[in-house]
Amino acid sequence: MLIFSPEQPLLHPLYTEKYAEVYIKRDDMIHPFISGNKWRKLKYNLLKASSLGKDTLITFGGAWSNHVLALACAAASQGFHAVAFIRGEQVANPVLDMCRLFGMQLIFVSREDYKDKKRLFESFEGNKKAFMIDEGGSGPEGAQGCAELLSELEREYDHIFVAAGTGTTAAGLSMGLTEHNLSTMLQVVPVLKGGLFIKDEMNALGASTANCEFHIDYHFGGYAKVKPDLIRFVQDFVRQTGIMIEPTYTGKALFALHDLLEQDRFKKGSRILFIHTGGLTGLLGQLEHFK
Ligand SMILES: *Cc1c(COP(=O)(O)O)cnc(C)c1O
Repeated sequence: MLIFSPEQPLLHPLYTEKYAEVYIKRDDMIHPFISGNKWRKLKYNLLKASSLGKDTLITFGGAWSNHVLALACAAASQGFHAVAFIRGEQVANPVLDMCRLFGMQLIFVSREDYKDKKRLFESFEGNKKAFMIDEGGSGPEGAQGCAELLSELEREYDHIFVAAGTGTTAAGLSMGLTEHNLSTMLQVVPVLKGGLFIKDEMNALGASTANCEFHIDYHFGGYAKVKPDLIRFVQDFVRQTGIMIEPTYTGKALFALHDLLEQDRFKKGSRILFIHTGGLTGLLGQLEHFK
């Protein structure tokens, strides 16, 4: 399957000042709804569901989940029914409206019930032909899809930067680096507090973390939390580059890249690739920060 994710030079005064050669991998351009790493993480899950003769995809997520929306669209385009268990009290927002528009069935469950995903999956009527895809598309099939990004690259890099939520994307990228015998360092930026758990998640998926650095101080208070300096950074970056980012994932990871460059943490002339993991529909819930 052909995908469109150009690898573009990224221009910014800071990169010139620090003699860094920065590129951006535009996974955000893969698809407007099956965006970024979610496309890669779904690929082998959907192939597996098809090969097992399943007709329904069941998944889990928060009310603004990029993964749930991606799955709703992917399911519709490949003829699966889709069901998502949404964490928390019933709410309405544009992401959930679009999920329904794609024909997805949404079931709101309390935070307590949400914890036992296996039980929720089994509680679903007619689950014989249902296939479970974990929150965020995480898991070995997800990592396998993300590993393929490395075969698309036109150049070699000293560093690859990526945001991490579950760590599946980072795990896949690390596997890809190992597969291609690359000495690139993977710079992982967890977007949740206490982000070192990402390392364990990566190891659990069979990925090496010997080639990784974890930058755990760029969570800005926790998942989907923001601070004024992050908002200002996102605003400036979008204005200076014409590339849209959002503050939950790509904003934090790019903030880390800029902060580390300012601290001269990379050698002059370093080649750096930033993975734009997409997820721009999340902005629909955050636009009030930018007023
Ligand atoms: C889901 C998501 C991530 C996190 O990916 P993981 O594989 O869970 O670490 C990063 N960026 C964006 C834009 C996302 O939507």
